Amino acid sequence: MKPYLREKKNFGFSDIPESTSFEAGYLVSVNSGWRSIRPVVNMEKCVGCMQCYLYCPDGVISVENKKAVIDYNFCKGCGICHKICKLNAIEMEAER
Ligand code: SF4
Ligand code: SF4
Repeated sequence: MKPYLREKKNFGFSDIPESTSFEAGYLVSVNSGWRSIRPVVNMEKCVGCMQCYLYCPDGVISVENKKAVIDYNFCKGCGICHKICKLNAIEMEAER
């Protein structure tokens, strides 16, 4: 079993699931229907530092080709990724 971040064990990125919680098997049904705002990644600004990946409480961000990718089926629009990104690469936009 992979260690959780809150456990004080030494671990590297290779110990963390690479995909979203849904793909890792933790989320079983789409739950984004009540989201009013959504995070949108500016691919030109994103450097793939993985901070948003680490802080997303729902584990719905993955990093592909060194860019953050958000699984909108499970993102709840909390905005934490927007707050945590020091490069302002994630903007919150009104849900369409
Ligand atoms: S925190 Fe910002 S720069 Fe880093 S991976 Fe996420 S969107 Fe990209
Ligand atoms: S808005 Fe919240 S749930 Fe959605 S990707 Fe960002 S941190 Fe994760």
